[in-house]
Amino acid sequence: MCGIVGYIGEEKAAPILLNGLSKLEYRGYDSAGICILEKGEVIIEKSKGRLNNLSEKINGGENYSATVGIGHTRWATHGAPSDINSHPHTSKDNLFTVVHNGIIENYIPLKEMLISKGCKFVSDTDTEVVAHLLCDNYDGDVIKTINKTIKMLKGSYALGIIFKNTPDVFYAVRKESPLIVGISENGNYIASDVPAILEYTRDVYYLDNNELAILTKDNVCVYDSELNKINKEKVKVEWSVEAACKGGYEHFMLKEIFEQPEAVSKTILPRIKNGDLVIENVEFTKEQLLNFRKIYIVACGSAYHVGIVGKYIMEKMCRISVEVDVASEFRYRNPILDEHTLFIAVSQSGETADTLAALREAKRKGAKTVSIVNVVGSSIARESDSVVYTWAGPEIAVATTKAYSAQLSVMYLLSLYMGKILGTVSEEEAAEQVKSLKELPEKMEKVLSDMEIFKDYGKKFKDSEDVFFIGRGIDYALSLEGS
Ligand code: GLU
Repeated sequence: MCGIVGYIGEEKAAPILLNGLSKLEYRGYDSAGICILEKGEVIIEKSKGRLNNLSEKINGGENYSATVGIGHTRWATHGAPSDINSHPHTSKDNLFTVVHNGIIENYIPLKEMLISKGCKFVSDTDTEVVAHLLCDNYDGDVIKTINKTIKMLKGSYALGIIFKNTPDVFYAVRKESPLIVGISENGNYIASDVPAILEYTRDVYYLDNNELAILTKDNVCVYDSELNKINKEKVKVEWSVEAACKGGYEHFMLKEIFEQPEAVSKTILPRIKNGDLVIENVEFTKEQLLNFRKIYIVACGSAYHVGIVGKYIMEKMCRISVEVDVASEFRYRNPILDEHTLFIAVSQSGETADTLAALREAKRKGAKTVSIVNVVGSSIARESDSVVYTWAGPEIAVATTKAYSAQLSVMYLLSLYMGKILGTVSEEEAAEQVKSLKELPEKMEKVLSDMEIFKDYGKKFKDSEDVFFIGRGIDYALSLEGS
């Protein structure tokens, strides 16, 4: 799952698309492409490899005057990385052109059906099916055609769609893959992630599953799956442009390591009020907490390691049995969940597919759900009963640092908050813990202020073939993350 950008407005679209895609490069990708509508003609430019290859090929997009277009960076799931398999993909006579993030799970039967009707496929992708299917379903009404088409798709998709005959409009729809709409005076945008459009606007709509957005240069309409018009809430993105870029560091991971004190401070300090803990969105009574017989913490990867720390501290502070599960396993073992269960999901992006599926299972079976999430308005955040945000800002490096530290902070806050209400943590102990939490960002600053010591360790260990991390209790959990 990589990047999507779309634009319609007064400006030249191609340079905006290339610039937006460049802000999504950190995700990793194998090819890039754009589609623009130039004087009624569909122009598709794509190329394997770096975005720069594409940019050089089309002179940064400056030669095109088109003011509408969609762009894509691809991380191949179906068909090898190649020029042909790069997005956008298009149908006969370029009637429909699409960019897609995600996987169309039922693309094989659809492809067979379309081939039997005479469709000619040029790529190995699952995505190309969508373009041909749109064309096959087209009955004169584009919106109804899109709606009918997505109902035939199984799997996950964020789609940007251009219909050749409506050059003043483009379309976007999503299911299980993230997609936002950016709104501005100079035009409207779609993007798979915030950094792509931050330079142009901070006002966004977070599209929900199965919502269809229709964008013109001065308007955006959003429809639900039954094509009823809906009023979306405009969200202001507070992240600075700088926060979304490298900010002078050699690479994102280093930058993010140094942002840990800030992330932890932003996550902890606003929640300490007059020595007491106030966690927005989370309000438990003692009766409610006593009602929980079991707490599940469910997550993937590093967030799972946060869960293991959570188990130690939550059991200690709350005296409730805590089980930690890898999300990809959880829903396949018919977990014992009911209204006496507290389910905690941990996810940086809030879009981790397995964690989201586990959350849905927990909800369906009546558990109370809380999520610890970094991306405001993400699926997990929206779908859980309450969400505690980690205020770590965008995390771009693949190896998590500041989001992980912020997640740990929330685990402590939550455990302490619940322990206080339950009376399993004494007032005295709670005051002591709150004091330590307050001091934490400063202590982290101190650790990071002397880089030489880390450089020395780096030099000493850089040629080692194996590293063993050994620890017990919380240190065991940290060892897992360290390794
Ligand atoms: N499944 C599509 C492909 O392989 C989209 C991959 C992506 O999200 O970039 O082309």
